[in-house]
Amino acid sequence: MSAKGSEGVAAGGLGFEPAIVLPTAKQRQMAAIRTRHTAPELIVRKALHAKGLRFRLHRRDLPGCPDIVLPGHRITVFVHGCFWHGCAMCDRGTRQPKSNAAFWMAKLDGNRRRDDRNVSDLTGLGWTVVIVWDCETRNREKLAGALDRIRAVVRPCLEDDVGTA
Ligand SMILES: [Zn+2]
Repeated sequence: MSAKGSEGVAAGGLGFEPAIVLPTAKQRQMAAIRTRHTAPELIVRKALHAKGLRFRLHRRDLPGCPDIVLPGHRITVFVHGCFWHGCAMCDRGTRQPKSNAAFWMAKLDGNRRRDDRNVSDLTGLGWTVVIVWDCETRNREKLAGALDRIRAVVRPCLEDDVGTA
């Protein structure tokens, strides 16, 4: 560690602000939105696997590139971040950013419209769509509820057919 040079003292005396701008939490979140294999998604995959359900990941040929696909049951699962996709069950999803409100409203509105379009495109192709929210993966009971939603649409005749991955 060297002592502060006279340069720093002079700058301080002139009232210069340091020119380092760290990314805000939201900017970091934004950079992470595209990342695949997020922790909540891994939690859901692990739980499905434990139930003996076979799945595929990120089928790019399907609308919205669903996070998890159970091809035998024609089920697609999206594991959605609460803030980004407007979760109605927790305050992360209903939070209104205070700064740049117009930008964020447009951004989140666009996400929701895209989500809606993906769901209708998928159902139009005969797929059942299940949405699992990030907040559900953080709570054991809620996660069980989310898995029940998936199991409820699993085709019973095919259930014996799974688990051979
Ligand atoms: Zn939520």
